Amino acid sequence: MSVVFDEFGRPFIVMREQEQRQRLKGLDAQKANILAARTVAGLLRSSLGPKGMDKMMVSPDGDVTITNDGATILNKMEVEHQVARLMVELSQSQDNEIGDGTTGVVVLAGALLEQANRLLDEGIHAVRICEGFEKACEVAVAQLEKISDTVEFSKDNIEPLIRTASTTLSSKIVHRYKAKMAKIAVDAVLSVADLDRKDVNFDLIKMEGKVGGTLEDTELVNGVILDKDWAHPQMPKEVNDAKILLLTCPFEAPKPKTKHKLDIKSADAYRALYEQEQKYYRDMVKMCKDSGANTVFCQWGMEDDSLGVLVQEKLPAVRWVGGVEVELLAMATGARIVPRFEEITPEKLGRAGKVREVQFGTTKERMMYIEDCQNAKTVTVFVRGGNKMVVDEGKRSLHDAMCVTRNLIKDNRIVYGGGSAEVACSLAISDYANTITGIEQYAIRAFADALDDVPMALAENSGLPPITMLSNIKARQVAEENPFIGIDAMGNQEANMKSALVFETLAGKISQIQMANQLAKLILRVDDVLASAGQ
Ligand code: ADP
Repeated sequence: MSVVFDEFGRPFIVMREQEQRQRLKGLDAQKANILAARTVAGLLRSSLGPKGMDKMMVSPDGDVTITNDGATILNKMEVEHQVARLMVELSQSQDNEIGDGTTGVVVLAGALLEQANRLLDEGIHAVRICEGFEKACEVAVAQLEKISDTVEFSKDNIEPLIRTASTTLSSKIVHRYKAKMAKIAVDAVLSVADLDRKDVNFDLIKMEGKVGGTLEDTELVNGVILDKDWAHPQMPKEVNDAKILLLTCPFEAPKPKTKHKLDIKSADAYRALYEQEQKYYRDMVKMCKDSGANTVFCQWGMEDDSLGVLVQEKLPAVRWVGGVEVELLAMATGARIVPRFEEITPEKLGRAGKVREVQFGTTKERMMYIEDCQNAKTVTVFVRGGNKMVVDEGKRSLHDAMCVTRNLIKDNRIVYGGGSAEVACSLAISDYANTITGIEQYAIRAFADALDDVPMALAENSGLPPITMLSNIKARQVAEENPFIGIDAMGNQEANMKSALVFETLAGKISQIQMANQLAKLILRVDDVLASAGQ
């Protein structure tokens, strides 16, 4: 806004478009941002832990999702505010990096900002707060490494992996079947893992789900499952010792392009054309058969007449197989993808022990199972459940459990959950704060207080008095010099999380603390918000 004068010396105000923007400056900007971030964190707080609540989200077109997974909750929410969106991304990055701990990271970031808000009120500058947080974060990471344990496992001793996977599953809908689910997740990861290189290729694990049955019917299939059926009901239901041909061209006769016109003037001409077409189909099927193939998976469609020939020639086929699935089949069976009939050769065929179509219940729903593939490393986790919401949440939970297993294969260090690791860090940070004389010591203490929020939330969600529980476990950790004392969320009368077998990966916990710290600092450093009008 600026004041100018006209030729008679009368003042008037010029407002540039820029000035119509909304602007928040200084402390106001920081406070508004903190409020937005804390609102998001507050939403997720009640979902933390094994007794945490689920959230139900309804999309504009009526799709319902029920979940406990922080990343999914935030993903499905329509978040407008720019800072709140940062929280959504925070949870997403924890999901991408680690795959678990997505609720915890947001709760911790919210707690850090709440503490920062208090410090700002007390007149401490944001930069000093950031410096304090940074130092405290370093102490926390060092403490986590100090209290971490290593788990030894091998292909024959997978018990420790299963235990960690079941901690992840204990807060999800699937917790009733967590022993079975954890075993499925671990078996799936181990069957594709390269333990020497500590590498897991998730592309080789396919997740498939079908409504029906119960979660208990979920199974791990040694091979690939496709949500498809044979192209014709008269094809054999099962092929043993399958030689698989993967085609990316349709079983159709070449058609004249729209620009051209084909006039058929006599019945003979029509018959000739029909014969020609039939010959195409026979030739196509012959080329497939000649290579020795006894099962065909085609990415495109099949003309009805070509189906007839396929049935006659006893060559079972599946049509409209998705591109990703064609690639997965190629990886699993060792087949080469063939783009033209003329290029089919016996060497391009893949092998599988058995290809079968399975029908479920009384419905017409069918799936194709391609088992005992040449490359035995491809597996499919097949999730069943009473309705779509349960199947989807089952898939997400298993994904989390598989991520945790993969993280353990990469780095076999663990810490114990139930807030015990957070309290141990909080105590270490408080000790460290006592050695600091500058103003940062307030920020460092605030970081310790923020860490205490995790066990408090766990206690609150389990119906326990949060402050009493926190002071109890703090006192016990100090008195017993035992950093494994945490919140007994399940009411098992066992506060030692090592004995209660509540495991979390060290990498996951470090990432949670570092990412939450980074985001809190990022938000604190913003002291000017310029938003276009209407935002
Ligand atoms: P996230 O999405 O962050 O993984 P969860 O809802 O899965 O969130 O909750 C994880 C928290 O619950 C962790 O702090 C973990 O230590 C704790 N937890 C899980 N199982 C137990 C248990 N049996 N007893 C106490 N705490 C548990």
